Amino acid sequence: MMFKLYLDPGHGGSDSWAIGNNLKEKDVVLDIALRIRNILINEYENVDIKMSRTTDVYRTLNERTDEANSWEADYFLSIHVNSYNGQVQGYELT
Ligand SMILES: [Zn+2]
Repeated sequence: MMFKLYLDPGHGGSDSWAIGNNLKEKDVVLDIALRIRNILINEYENVDIKMSRTTDVYRTLNERTDEANSWEADYFLSIHVNSYNGQVQGYELT
C-alpha cells in the first residue's frame, strides 16, 4: 500500500516571507523539501510524493490544500523556517 505524502515548501514567488542573513525562507524551504523528496524516493519504498511547488512560484494556501485533498494525500507536510528579530523571548512550537 502506498503512503501518499504531500510536501509543501512554504511561500514562493513574490512571497519570500522570512528574510535574514541574505537567506529567504522561500528558498531555504524549497531546498529542504527537495532534499526530503530525494531521500524518500531513493531510500524508501511505497511512498508517493507530490509537491506543491518545485520552483520559485507562488500558490495560495487554498490551492495547495485543495490539491492535496483531491489527490487524497495521507499526510500534508508544510516546511517553514522562521527568522528571529533579536528581541522576542520564549519558545515556539510550530
Ligand atoms: Zn513560513
